[in-house]
Amino acid sequence: MKRIQITEHIVQFEQEGQQMPCCLTAYTGNDGLVLIDSGQSTRTEELEQGVQELGFQAPRFIINTHASLANVGGNGAFGTSPTILAHRGTRTMMQSPSHLLAELGADALPDVEIDGPVTLHRDEEEIRILPLSGSHSPTDLVVHFVHAGVACVGDIYGGRFFPFPTFGGHATEFSRVLTELRELLPSNTKLLYGHQSGVGSLQDFQEILDMMEETVPIVKQGVAAGKDRDTLIAEGLPERWEHLSRPGATAAGWIYVLYNDFTDQGFEQPDQLVPLYEGWKAGGGDGAVARIREEIAENAEIDPQFERAFLRFGYWLLRDKQSPSNAAKVFRLWAETFPASWNAYDSLAEAHVALGQTALAIEHYRKSLELNPENENGKTELAKLGMS
Ligand SMILES: [Zn+2]
Repeated sequence: MKRIQITEHIVQFEQEGQQMPCCLTAYTGNDGLVLIDSGQSTRTEELEQGVQELGFQAPRFIINTHASLANVGGNGAFGTSPTILAHRGTRTMMQSPSHLLAELGADALPDVEIDGPVTLHRDEEEIRILPLSGSHSPTDLVVHFVHAGVACVGDIYGGRFFPFPTFGGHATEFSRVLTELRELLPSNTKLLYGHQSGVGSLQDFQEILDMMEETVPIVKQGVAAGKDRDTLIAEGLPERWEHLSRPGATAAGWIYVLYNDFTDQGFEQPDQLVPLYEGWKAGGGDGAVARIREEIAENAEIDPQFERAFLRFGYWLLRDKQSPSNAAKVFRLWAETFPASWNAYDSLAEAHVALGQTALAIEHYRKSLELNPENENGKTELAKLGMS
């Protein structure tokens, strides 16, 4: 992990992520180490090493800024040694099969759940933990090192990019949360973000607040006028916000999550992951596929939002479980169920690359590009495979 010294006692770790880096923070002093977020479950070895390099065997406390695979994945790496603090509701989320966090086991669960401000005293430092949920996720909190003048905001603010909610989060809540946070913290506070290393400031928020002030009503009015999601995405947003796009946080994605909020669909339907997860528990990738085939046979029409479940579950198998053969089975069923989905073929191709099956990877990347000639990832990956 890359290590960045923020103040005398505060260090930021940067883990390599899939689409974006994942950042953790460590506070060290005579009273021990406090870790803010524990990173990805596939990177616990480098986390242990990072903690040792700071002169500790294990953190005394871990504080999770929210419950997601990139933030709580290393919670169990130190056994029962650390006391883990998180927002109320985190335990339930982590135990339910619908969030793919249950695999992390009992050691990863928070010991203390909070739903009001809490102060932790370490040496001379006063660590204020401020629950501020609803936008990125239902379990967001901010960790403010009062004397150092530093705050970890998790994914409430993702940098100069379109904001992105995760399970149970609400795009329409970002304005409220960012405005509240700006009032809660002193204006010169140094901010540490969940997916961008280095130091930011509360003044950074203004551009995103301006963007939301203009774009939220556009989508709201479109929904009121009876436009569907694809139409709104095709119409797009004013050009001048285009620079806020990056992989994983695009203008189309922003319209998508706003549309879901205004039509009461939420960001994703975590419950759709349950049959996939239960099928996989019972019989691996084949089990997951069999369960979904049953569901499809029982229902005349499959919910288009189920694409998200295939995507999330398949990538969980590919990346978190390091099982490309099972991922390929899930992605193949995705492509079969949604034959017009370029994203399904792109993902299937990626699983074949991981399996070393180059010919199949090329075939599926080509299919994906046929369905969507603008799939830049497909072009890049084909070039890497020596094709054009
Ligand atoms: Zn997150």
